[in-house]
Amino acid sequence: MSGTEDTVIILACPTCRRSAPWREESDFRPFCSERCKLIDLGAWADESHRIAGDSAYDDLSSED
Ligand SMILES: [Zn+2]
Repeated sequence: MSGTEDTVIILACPTCRRSAPWREESDFRPFCSERCKLIDLGAWADESHRIAGDSAYDDLSSED
């Protein structure tokens, strides 16, 4: 009976790149914290917003 359930997996946070333990109870994994998760989601939202609200298309629309 050699249980290895105590094995802690260390992953690098995609946002701040700090080594953080992977815990099953973590809602914000693979991020080290909820803050880093929100930062990553915000970055994605900002990126998609820039693509959706293209100034070139917006200029053509207002001319119509
Ligand atoms: Zn982080």
